[in-house]
Formats: sequence, structure tokens, C-alpha cells
Amino acid sequence: MLNLTYLQALTAMENLLSKVGVSHWRDSIRMDIQRWNDFKDAKSHLNSYGGMGSFNDVLICEENGHQVTRIQQPWVNTLFDWLKNLCYQLAKDPRHELSLEAIIDETGPSDPCIAAFWSPNEAETKRRQAEHRQKTNNKISGERCLQCGYGEVSAASIDWYLSKEIIPKMLMAEQNLTTAIEKILKVDVPNIQTWRNEISAKLIKSGVAIHLKGRDLRPCPKCGSRDTAVYRWSPTKDGQGYEPSDDNLALRKK
Ligand SMILES: [Zn+2]
Repeated sequence: MLNLTYLQALTAMENLLSKVGVSHWRDSIRMDIQRWNDFKDAKSHLNSYGGMGSFNDVLICEENGHQVTRIQQPWVNTLFDWLKNLCYQLAKDPRHELSLEAIIDETGPSDPCIAAFWSPNEAETKRRQAEHRQKTNNKISGERCLQCGYGEVSAASIDWYLSKEIIPKMLMAEQNLTTAIEKILKVDVPNIQTWRNEISAKLIKSGVAIHLKGRDLRPCPKCGSRDTAVYRWSPTKDGQGYEPSDDNLALRKK
């Protein structure tokens, strides 16, 4: 069992942000480290999660000038979400260590975002949290034609889905954040190709096509309609396939 301190979580975050060139937030984390060392103050870090342009709004990607490839992107961002959650949970009570396993079991990578939905009314806060968790349940995201029902996901969206399943397990297995960060940056994930193939096969069996690069589904390659939408699929109960999740637009009735 790995016990983490607030300072260790911040140091891991600083390490990741340095490696992928997110310099503004790397500097901000360095200041948080300084404030902790000098004043035992973690409030500045907690303040990073609220408001416009907050730490929650950062997407690590090439388009934003970061040093990350398209292959790395899902893995790096999911790791980033988990590191934010570790920092956030530890910053709330920074004088105590927490076990990595306990944080992973009892909280979620979107908890720092949920904090921004806080309401003074406790029932309302709970309702917003439940709603947000429901929305952020792990699903495979793609597009679907609402006219003929043709659906497609990209290879990258399979990796996004897999990264959310696998990264918490990798963090627990490694027991060392530095090694975990190195492996995840290299997308050195155990059995990754087997996982990708298995999910692809189940999607195809469930009637969902895979497009390697991903593309705009307008017009639909099957019927030519431009009536397409972002669409999500969840695993079926028996785990053998995928089915539309319940937060999609309905197909048009003929
Ligand atoms: Zn169509």
C-alpha cells in the first residue's frame, strides 16, 4: 500500500506537466510547492480548481502547443485527471497522508470538477454530484446517423475508454508515481493491443463500425444524411458487447 503526501502528489504533477510542456500550470504547481514548504499552505492549490480558465479546463494536446502525440493524448489526459484528483484530495487535509488505493477506491477522477458544482444546499450538491458522475461514467464516444442508425467510433476513442479503465489499475500496480508516469507517457500499457482488439471486436459485433483516424460523420457514409450526432455506447450487462447509453438523442422514427 502506497501512502501519499500532499507534497508527493504535487511533485508528481509538476513532473508530468514539465514533461508535456504545460508551462503555465507547471509554474503554478511550483508555487504551490513553495507555499507548502514555506507556509504549510494548500489553499492556493485548492483555488486552482474553480472558475473560468481553471486547472479543470486544461486539455493536454498538440493543438494547445503541448509536447504530446495523438497516441499519447488519451493516456496523458487520463493520468492528468487522476493526478489532479490525488492533489485535490490531499490538499483538503494536507497534513495527513492518504493511501493511493483508498483515493482510487473512494473518489473519482472528476471529483475536482465536481467541486466546482458545490451548492450551499446539501441535497442540491448531492444531486449535482450524482448527475455529474452519471455523465462521466466511462463510455465509448463516437458518432451516429440518426436517420439510418449507422454508428462509428475512432481508434482514439477506444484508447480514451481504455485509459480510463486501465490507468487507475496501473497507478495501484506500480506503487510509484514516477515510474507510472514514465510508463504511461510511453503508452507502455500491459496487453494494450489485446485490449484494443477485444473492444473493437465487441463493437463490431454490436453493429458499431471503427474508423482508424476518426472523421466527421457528415454526411453519413451509408445513407448520405447529414442528420448525425455525437453518440455514446456502454458495455452490455453480460460484458459481451456494447449498447447505446441512455444519454443519447433518439433515432428518428420512420
Ligand atoms: Zn445514415
